[in-house]
Order: sequence, then C-alpha cells, then structure tokens
Amino acid sequence: MAQGPKKRGIVIFGPPGAGKGTQARRLVEDFGFEYIATGDILREAVAKRTPLGIKASEHMNRGELVTDEVMIPIVEERLKAGDGGSGFILDGFPRTVRQATMLEEAARRNGIEIDLAIYLKTSKDVIVQRLSGRRICPKCGTIFHIVNIPPKVAGVCNKCGGSLIQREDDREEAILTRLAEYARQTAEVIDFYRNKGVLVEVNGDVPVEVSYPSIVKTIEGGRGL
Ligand code: AMP
Repeated sequence: MAQGPKKRGIVIFGPPGAGKGTQARRLVEDFGFEYIATGDILREAVAKRTPLGIKASEHMNRGELVTDEVMIPIVEERLKAGDGGSGFILDGFPRTVRQATMLEEAARRNGIEIDLAIYLKTSKDVIVQRLSGRRICPKCGTIFHIVNIPPKVAGVCNKCGGSLIQREDDREEAILTRLAEYARQTAEVIDFYRNKGVLVEVNGDVPVEVSYPSIVKTIEGGRGL
C-alpha cells in the first residue's frame, strides 16, 4: 500500500471521435499530468511488432476492443511505474465496466484516487465527420483534422515534421464497428462514474477551443459533480 497523500487520477472518455486525445494532450501540456493513452500504447506496440502489438492489431484494425485480460495489466504497470507528476490522466481507459472496477483497485493499490471522469458527450454525425477527416502524426502522436485542425503544411506535422497518416481504424467499416463496440461495452461506464459521484458531462459536439475552457474549470474546481 502506497504511503502519503493520494495522487490524482482523471479519466477522459466518450465515443471514438469525441476529442479525448486532443483534449487530454492539451491538459498534459497545461497541467503537467502524466498521460496514459491506451490506444497510443497499443499503436506503438503494433508499429514495433512486439508480442502485445501482434495480439492487438487484428482487433484494432477491425475496430473491436482488445480483451480486458490484455489491457488491465498494461495500465496497472503504467500506474505503478509512473510518478504521476501533478496526477495521471487516462485516455481510452476504462472502456468496459470490468476495466473501470479494476482501475479502482489498481489505483488504490498505487496511492491514486480517480476523482474525476470527464465524459465528452458527442453525437453520431459529428463523430463520423471527425474520424473520417482525422490525421495523426505517427512520430509524436499529434492529432490533426483536414478541415477542423489542418496542419500548416498539408500532410506534415506542425510539431515534429513527421508525415501525417490516416489511422487504419478510421476507415468507414471500422468506424461503424467502433461505434457499435462503444454502445455495447463502453456506454455503461458512464453510469459507473455517475454512481461514484465523479462524472462531469462536457459537450463534445462543439469545437475543442470551445469545450476546453470548461474542462479546465472543472479540473481546477477539484472534484466532479
Ligand atoms: P483509441 O486510440 O483510444 O481510439 O484506441 C484505438 C483502439 O485500441 C480501440 O479501437 C481498441 O481496439 C484499442 N483499445 C484502446 N484502449 C482500449 C481499452 N481500454 N480496451 C480495449 N481496447 C482498447
């Protein structure tokens, strides 16, 4: 059992395309949180062809969730290894109620309290428009959109000069599977955090610049509502 004051844990979740990654990366820059993005961890493993990457890639390309048995130890290891800085921010985890329950236990074991769950509520039309135009930098992970957040030079990352790519799972067929997986497995995580009293709902339909200040206010205000 970890000693001393508890470190802060914040979960950011919502359907694919809600803007979790974009918002979380800004929060990391502005608040110095330690960033745990399970999608990024998996994509890196796929790129390096590690055993984890090989196991995960088929599920990911189809838009299905990777199993809890694979995901839970990855996150626990990161919580244990990290120093947490001013807190941890989790992006893309938990995606099932089982993951949420395990996260509570793992957090407790490592002296962390999940005191805020930011739910980016987003409608289907917005999701499809965002995902189909999304481009990412495979080198530094920065997220762009061909219309909403265009890079200064087409196809080139503003931050590191990397060549932007479209994610394999941002194709239409995979998008539909991801939305179905969200409805089937992730939506009930909302109630998990609502019942815990730490849920804050944020409008994910508006541009990031519009919703970000309300997220900042919530974080500075302490706990969820
Ligand atoms: P993301 O970058 O968060 O959209 O995640 C991309 C893909 O990685 C998802 O569609 C899943 O296949 C997989 N993935 C990421 N996080 C999780 C998780 N917590 N549980 C299961 N699969 C995940």
